[in-house]
Amino acid sequence: MPSKTSTKIGETTDVPTPPSAFRQWLQNHLGACSPYLPVLCLLCEQVTTTSGADHLCPHCRLALPFNQNPCLHCALPLAALDNSDTAICSECLTKPLANRAIAPLIHRHEAAHLVHRLKFHRAEPEGRTLAMLMMTQIRLTDMSRLPTLLVPVPVAYSTAVNRSFNQSALLAWHLAKAFNIDYAPRLLIRQGGPAQRSLTRGQRLISAQFARRSSAKPLAGAHVAIVDDVLTTGATVRRVSRLLRQLGAGLIDVWCATRTPSLNDE
Ligand SMILES: [Zn+2]
Ligand SMILES: [Zn+2]
Repeated sequence: MPSKTSTKIGETTDVPTPPSAFRQWLQNHLGACSPYLPVLCLLCEQVTTTSGADHLCPHCRLALPFNQNPCLHCALPLAALDNSDTAICSECLTKPLANRAIAPLIHRHEAAHLVHRLKFHRAEPEGRTLAMLMMTQIRLTDMSRLPTLLVPVPVAYSTAVNRSFNQSALLAWHLAKAFNIDYAPRLLIRQGGPAQRSLTRGQRLISAQFARRSSAKPLAGAHVAIVDDVLTTGATVRRVSRLLRQLGAGLIDVWCATRTPSLNDE
């Protein structure tokens, strides 16, 4: 289970404990045989007898901080529980972040732990679990209006070299496969600069420069979903949306695994 600590800045307030040596060994060496091994819950590491493909025990699944009443356009958790399909935050009433925003979890406690494991430890089982939670949320929406293209938020070249991994691309890959949607991980590039988590909110709003690749083809009115792990200020989504519109995108959704509880949650 994650342990609590305070961090100066950033999207994660929980520092997870490392996985047990036994679990790490199972993941690293016996992954191919995993159907024949006991399923360990990703959060409590207890053997779970349920066959849930998300690798969570019933207790941990129920304890997840679900985003109960999100804003339709930015997934910000709202206080009122009147009608979750039409809830819209005050900012999105005048300047909606996206056509439709999906973020099944609030970015705290166990949800932040799963994202941290995915992002900094390249924990692919946690990535699959987060993608499955996103799939469940998406299936609860109007399936007749799914996007036709998924665009993961790119990481900077230096981050890609250091981590050899883009967590948003992994989530998008799972979602594209599940919904049979095209997937474009190389449409955009992220230029240099410090990682978002090392910046204050104000700095985030003016950083994160994105560009389209010279090989990017026009989107011809396509309904696109931007895929990311965490939605915090929405600055990244707005910048990516602007580029996608320049390429000719029509409707733009945003699909994220977790949402910070407020725009100033730093
Ligand atoms: Zn558990
Ligand atoms: Zn909103």
